[in-house]
Amino acid sequence: MHRDPDADALGSSLGWASYLSKKGHEVTVISPTEYAANLRWMVNPDLVLVYEKASEQAKCRKKIQEATLICCLDFSVLSRLKDLGKVVQEAPAPKMMIDHHLEPEYFATWMIWDTNAAATAQLVYQLVKELEDYAPATEIFDVPMAEYLYAGIMTDTGSFRHANVTADVHLAVADLMRTGFDSSRVHRLIYDNAPLSRLQFLGYVLSQKLVVLPKYRTAYMVLTEAELQRFNSSTGETEGIVNYGLQVENVVMSAMFIERKGEIKISFRSVGTFSVRDLASTHFNGGGHKNASGGRSEQSVNETVDYFLSILPTYEQALLSVD
Ligand code: 5GP
Ligand code: MN
Repeated sequence: MHRDPDADALGSSLGWASYLSKKGHEVTVISPTEYAANLRWMVNPDLVLVYEKASEQAKCRKKIQEATLICCLDFSVLSRLKDLGKVVQEAPAPKMMIDHHLEPEYFATWMIWDTNAAATAQLVYQLVKELEDYAPATEIFDVPMAEYLYAGIMTDTGSFRHANVTADVHLAVADLMRTGFDSSRVHRLIYDNAPLSRLQFLGYVLSQKLVVLPKYRTAYMVLTEAELQRFNSSTGETEGIVNYGLQVENVVMSAMFIERKGEIKISFRSVGTFSVRDLASTHFNGGGHKNASGGRSEQSVNETVDYFLSILPTYEQALLSVD
């Protein structure tokens, strides 16, 4: 799965791993970096290795070098694996990609790749159904598998609100629900499971850091390393905060700049026709989806934000024309 895995990266990987295990394969799930605290309930730490943990790195390398098949879920460019990308690239095993991001690299032998899928977890659901001849969900999926896949679909659709929600999304979820898992509990575990510090941090960001530029229908927030330290914020605690910018009336693009470990991580969100994927890939070494993308910068926070502000006029027409 990709670095800083979200619930779709983790959920699709764990769901696919469960299926392969059921089929008698020996499976190891590897994340390049730590996952957010609110996803810990999904993970049996004995089964998921984290490459950036010094104590697990050698084991990850060995597993990848010795694998007979490497499944790459929820990413389609190897740079999304951080340092692990090189290890995967050099490993002799054939690669199988399952992903829904635009602009893939063609590093995999097999690609289950569909940008119309709302989530990689939806692709895993469909693949497993096809492999099992469309048997009833209750015969193929168990409750943990259904929860993993549901978590991925639920989060990548913004709880079934985004433009990527289709009839197939609801049909997949309806089918998974036949296993009898508690979907409301999954929602609570992910969204209503934050440490108090996250809510206080969110309060700080919204009251002190949110800037709105009505002329460009844009909102943005900048968080420095010092501020993150002040709130003792871990990786997961900034996740999703960028979305709040879109709640401001008339705003159609929201951006968040986060300084962490000397690099600037940028998150973009938009609505409708405005493509933040194009903006991220043209200007910030990034990519993603039309309405949710990200990128990185090695310049200082101020330089990065100044650059962002300097390119806004070139997008003015596109921003104004969003319905
Ligand atoms: P987030 O803002 O949640 O970190 O990222 C939103 C989406 O943007 C992700 O689902 C992913 O598709 C994409 N994304 C984030 N960072 C990067 C990046 O550095 N490179 C590329 N290609 N896509 C990214
Ligand atoms: Mn995804």
